[in-house]
Amino acid sequence: MPPCAGAYANHMSDDCLFCAIASGAIPSEKVLENDHLVAFRDIAPKAPTHVLVVPRLHVENVAELAATDASLLAEMAAAAQEIADRECGGEFRWIFNTGAAAGQTVFHVHGHVLGGGELGWEPA
Ligand code: 5GP
Repeated sequence: MPPCAGAYANHMSDDCLFCAIASGAIPSEKVLENDHLVAFRDIAPKAPTHVLVVPRLHVENVAELAATDASLLAEMAAAAQEIADRECGGEFRWIFNTGAAAGQTVFHVHGHVLGGGELGWEPA
């Protein structure tokens, strides 16, 4: 796997899908990227806009991220808003599935940015 081009290059997990996407080892449709995070389109979109905001730092879930680097979580929120401003008139839903029972399938924290239409409320 190539080195991760960012401030968190030493915090990757070797067998993590989102570390591989963040580093570019696995391709994705990126919509925003900086030294700390990447945002790319979900492979199975659940809304007209469905983007995953992912820190380069490998931590499992949002509580662990908040405890480790709260400013990085704030940066993810700003990135989510920027994407929604571009694509969804600034309105969006931001979801962090936490734990398998809640639907988390990739155990590298990611915020789902969903928008671009009238969203229903019930989880799919
Ligand atoms: P979770 O279920 O963990 O909250 O979200 C994981 C998300 O990653 C899912 O919405 C799933 O569609 C998406 N996903 C899984 N594999 C890939 C992939 O290889 N590329 C992209 N772009 N998204 C993926």
